[in-house]
Amino acid sequence: MPIRLLPPEVAGKIAAGEVVERPASVVKELVENSIDAGATDLQIEIREGGRRLIRVADNGCGIPAEETSLAFARHATSKLAGVEDLNRIATLGFRGEALASIAAVSQVALLTRPRAQTVGQYLQVDAGRITRQEGRGCPAGTVVTVEHLFRNVPVRLKFLRQPQTETGHIHAVVTYYALAYPEVRFHLTADDRTVFQSTGNGKLYDVLIAVYGLEVAEQMLELSGSDDAEALADNGEAPRVYGFAGTPQLHRANRNYLTFFANRRWIQDRSLAHAVAEAYHTLLPVGRHPVAVILLEMDTADLDVNVHPTKREVKFRDGRQVFSAVQRAVRRTLVERAPVPELGHPRRTWPAPDWERYQSLLSAGRGEATPTQLAMELYRTSAVSNEGEELQPLGPARLPLLRVVGQVGQTYIVAEGPQAMYLIDQHAAHERVLYEQMMAEHDREAITSQVLLEPLSLDLDPILAGVLAEQLTAFNDLGFVIEPFGGTSYLLRAVPSILVVPDVRTALVDILDLLRQGDDPLAAQAEERLTAAVCKRAAIKAGQTLSHEEMQTLVRQLEQCESPRTCPHGRPTVLHFSVERLEKEFARR
Ligand code: ADP
Ligand code: MG
Repeated sequence: MPIRLLPPEVAGKIAAGEVVERPASVVKELVENSIDAGATDLQIEIREGGRRLIRVADNGCGIPAEETSLAFARHATSKLAGVEDLNRIATLGFRGEALASIAAVSQVALLTRPRAQTVGQYLQVDAGRITRQEGRGCPAGTVVTVEHLFRNVPVRLKFLRQPQTETGHIHAVVTYYALAYPEVRFHLTADDRTVFQSTGNGKLYDVLIAVYGLEVAEQMLELSGSDDAEALADNGEAPRVYGFAGTPQLHRANRNYLTFFANRRWIQDRSLAHAVAEAYHTLLPVGRHPVAVILLEMDTADLDVNVHPTKREVKFRDGRQVFSAVQRAVRRTLVERAPVPELGHPRRTWPAPDWERYQSLLSAGRGEATPTQLAMELYRTSAVSNEGEELQPLGPARLPLLRVVGQVGQTYIVAEGPQAMYLIDQHAAHERVLYEQMMAEHDREAITSQVLLEPLSLDLDPILAGVLAEQLTAFNDLGFVIEPFGGTSYLLRAVPSILVVPDVRTALVDILDLLRQGDDPLAAQAEERLTAAVCKRAAIKAGQTLSHEEMQTLVRQLEQCESPRTCPHGRPTVLHFSVERLEKEFARR
């Protein structure tokens, strides 16, 4: 055959195939148009899985009478003016092909009226051709009715599933938009039955309840620490991450419960699913998947949505950064707030010492007996069992009173508490303790420093010198006394007391190196970042043998911390092995 240009109807049908895969695609495009039109109320009606009818009615801005027929032309849009707008897409639609594509494969009726016009417009389009157009009274807003979907595309018609299946897909699409737009009221009916509705009160948690039900919603944790993410976003550096992630007790057999949005657009992205899975690493049973609803907000220039006609796949300008922002946000939430007691299963206690007694002995006997002696005394005298007694579930943050058992691998401290066994990372724990001490002193402007006998002159490489120059105020606020000494040289006169280590010079270089790497998710402020770096350097290392007293002191200090469960960099300090877990692992029940 010779090469020929395709007739417009054929080209139109081919292009439509990319946008309109199934009834849910139609719903998606119409809902997007309503949201772009500023609607706050969407009524969605479907019949026979959308095959017979799909109707979306909104209270948005409407389409001016003179533009209604143009709305159905391919590549006709009110959302893009020039090519430069493609780099900053702020609307859900922009390709100007949804209405044209839908109309190419169905029979569409449009009824629309902008608030400022007194009469509305009615337009009927059949397989791409306008068959009727007239003025008609109607409420402000837009109603699009799609009937006989795929009547002229037998292949697609053959591939449609059972109406319930198609209804399920439509339901999913509507819930996605409801989650992304809690301020918009959605109402979906299928064959006259309400299958979903949201209130539009602006609260994401309420939509979560509407979508997943109360029981699941109650096991969802709001992602924490948006503060520093926000601060980063202000620098145009990282996206803001918000939403909810399920507790590790909430898991599902597949990944369908991971929902992502980028700038309020529902997206499918394997790498983000992977980021979340990593955050749950070791917390979920093998082969199970978490539940999470995660929304990313970023500069429109950092997000390319023009990848595929359905706009479901996107490209991030800096994919790695988005990945780690998501992973950190979820991990931080889990580490800070887990272990959350299992619902309906009061946490069982360990049939061993009387912990309150231990505590009072500890505080009374200070100076006379060592904690170890006290603990042994306690074991000898306490009634052996307090089983069956109901204990308060572990608070979200604080640690219970712990008894040190010993050290393993010169790295971890084994301890016993009322709820069985705890494994503490000595370095991470000490970092946390020092960090809270130093931040508290900083807040009271009471950081103690140690003046060096001889000032140390430092000759730094240009990169580290740059880091120091940039952060000099923070250093001097935190107990250092450092003076510029020309070029890349500095004079170090004093260090914070906690940093009195044999080789102060190397310690300072290490700290500058840490700051240069900028790997500090939890601390946004210069002081916090610097404090975290100082504490990391000053803390006990892994591989260091600790005496029983040293361990006991460290554990005691950790118990007193505000956020004892993570180090300042967000890694866990404590692993908890509950009675249940031990019994399960040892197959005792
Ligand atoms: P796009 O959304 O990519 O611009 P569409 O084919 O979906 O393309 O819609 C074409 C145009 O029709 C839109 O740009 C918009 O101006 C108008 N339009 C469509 N639906 C609505 C609606 N519900 N309310 C107001 N205007 C609408
Ligand atoms: Mg559109």
